Amino acid sequence: MKYSVDQLKLFNIYLLENQELILNQPINGDLWKIYELFKKNIIDNNILQFESLNDFLNYFQQFNELTGGSLHISKSKFCSAELTRSRIVWINNIALNILRDLNNETPEPSSPPIIKDASSLFDFISPPTTRNLNQIRNLTINDIQEFIKKPTTKLILDKKRSKLNTPISNFPLICNSQQHSLILSKFGLNRKEFLTKQSLNDNIIHQRITQSKIQINQDILNCYNEKIHFLPIIYNHTDSKLGDCSYLDTCHKMKTCRYLHYYTLNPPLKSESPTQQQQQQQQQQQQIDYTLNECFSQNFRTITPPQWINCDITSLNFEKLGKFSAIISDPAWSIHQNLPYGTFGDLESINLPMNLLQDEGILFLWVTARSLDIGREALKKWGYIVSNEVIWVKLNQLKRTIVTGRTGHWLNHSKEHLLVGLKGNPSWLNLSIDLDVIVSNTRETSRKPDELYDIIDRMCGLYSRKLELFGRQHNVRPGWLTVGNQLNSQ
Ligand code: SAH
Repeated sequence: MKYSVDQLKLFNIYLLENQELILNQPINGDLWKIYELFKKNIIDNNILQFESLNDFLNYFQQFNELTGGSLHISKSKFCSAELTRSRIVWINNIALNILRDLNNETPEPSSPPIIKDASSLFDFISPPTTRNLNQIRNLTINDIQEFIKKPTTKLILDKKRSKLNTPISNFPLICNSQQHSLILSKFGLNRKEFLTKQSLNDNIIHQRITQSKIQINQDILNCYNEKIHFLPIIYNHTDSKLGDCSYLDTCHKMKTCRYLHYYTLNPPLKSESPTQQQQQQQQQQQQIDYTLNECFSQNFRTITPPQWINCDITSLNFEKLGKFSAIISDPAWSIHQNLPYGTFGDLESINLPMNLLQDEGILFLWVTARSLDIGREALKKWGYIVSNEVIWVKLNQLKRTIVTGRTGHWLNHSKEHLLVGLKGNPSWLNLSIDLDVIVSNTRETSRKPDELYDIIDRMCGLYSRKLELFGRQHNVRPGWLTVGNQLNSQ
């Protein structure tokens, strides 16, 4: 029996609505179970009914032909020939969506589409009708350079996708009014708390400010709702005339330092539950099935929960870790200064068997000013070319560039270096999206900016395997395996 498109569409709708249920336990994609479920679903339907499982299997085959093999089947090991024992292992959503949106009218037989290939050098220099080999010979360097500069389709698509996948967080607005900060500090802070190290957080301060609302000018309240304020902390020993402490919130002598320190008060969070439209958008994003230049897509690999190994990296068997698309390594290079953790010798770092971790991919190696050259040599030794160098321009608590860093023997250091190594020919890397400069706040000693994770997601796709070496607990995150000796042991 031959089924009509309308009849086949019923299964399409069913699959689109129930694929999670179908693919997972206990149904597990088994066709005979799907048959029972689908039959119940269409029980009252007068355009489609099945007499037996065989009817359904015939229907199923026609459906799969119509959608170009959208349903990937794995045959049971025990009974490989029978469709009865087969299971659906993967569903190509694009094909299902196409069928869903298809107009039922039978299309007019048409002549084959004319494919306009605009990607060749020929087309660039002349319309297809006047192609002539001599034109290639007559090309000047300028012509070729112009051609090379043209963005490729891949680049345009990569950028579009990364826009879709990148949550936008605005750079925070900062209020520069001293008066605002003083008033908010007066109502929100209690100087004793800082000296007794009581835990203080934005919520407590927001509560206090809300309680004192009537005493605060409306303009200040409006500004407080929108912008970050740096509230001066006036201890008994503070001498405001001296100005800001150059270490600000990283000052080690807060209890005696006479310079000014601040508390960073972020605006109160607006309780924004995602609107229905936003939720739909998110779902649509998750369903993007376009895998060009993703080394994996969600159809092959889900994002793993955070994973980590607490160990001495030198005693870890790298061969057991498998291969990764992207790696961050932040070796505890010795910087001849006190650090709150054990450091790692240059040679120890170079001798790590890093060559085992990637066949092709990208490696981000944090280096200190002293170890820049050692890092470059190490990358080459591990089989990488040094393809880029990112710098992180460090901002202090007041979001200004740092003038008094704690490191630097000759010039104060206000930046950090990140070498980028490339191995093999990872054609799936999305290029030319981000910059080689990160501008963001410093946090705990040695803690690196989170922006790097987003850059890597945009370059390697969300579903790639990613490894961080010498990471700490705040570094662990979904999709990443983190290794270090200061991680929780459980
Ligand atoms: N990138 C991290 C900072 C890393 S600091 C961040 O953003 O926070 C270097 C880390 O390497 C420290 O936690 C240190 O304890 C750890 N470390 C030093 N020697 C190690 C070793 N032999 N094995 C594992 N971890 C080591």
